[in-house]
Amino acid sequence: MLHLLSHPLGAHVLTHLRDKTTKPALFRTLSYQISLLLALEATRDLATEPKEIETPLEPMTGRVLSKHLVVVPILRAGLGMLQPFHDTFPDVSVGYVGLERDHTTAVARSYYCKLPPLAGTRVLVVDPMLATGGSAAQALTLVKQNGATEVCLVCIVGSPEGVATVEKAHPEVPIILGALDRALNSRRYILPGLGDFGDRLYGT
Ligand code: URA
Repeated sequence: MLHLLSHPLGAHVLTHLRDKTTKPALFRTLSYQISLLLALEATRDLATEPKEIETPLEPMTGRVLSKHLVVVPILRAGLGMLQPFHDTFPDVSVGYVGLERDHTTAVARSYYCKLPPLAGTRVLVVDPMLATGGSAAQALTLVKQNGATEVCLVCIVGSPEGVATVEKAHPEVPIILGALDRALNSRRYILPGLGDFGDRLYGT
């Protein structure tokens, strides 16, 4: 199930993020901003529960989040989306999944996996570029194997191939995307895309 970000600020930020003249410092700020918009989009259906409080004037029943949130960035580029989740949501836990592609089989292999307890939580797997979808699908499988039942995938830019791969492997997982681009090139970069996200983020 694909959800595309429709906020006008999202389009504005994405345009500057894509621009090849954008330097790493601004790129990091823009990544923060688009990831915050995506975080809000990905959590708009979070459950809340009543909480009795007193304002300075009278008692009232407010509402607070009732589910623990876990964010799982896929290393390394996913780290560029982590901070706004951390800053915005109380009591968020962070898990890490490191995946690398085997150059002969083209299958993503996990070289690092450190996850908090996932049962009963909302798990947000974050990876900026949904290119072939292989790593994202593999990360979703890993979090499910570790007890996650309520999972969504949050990416900044996706390709039709990537969306199709994830939808085929995990049809029940919502995909929250900043933009759905045209295609992949022969080197599996997204077109028009924004280039190598990790390289632009870290200036490598
Ligand atoms: N990863 C990136 O950083 N960019 C792409 O276009 C595809 C995968």
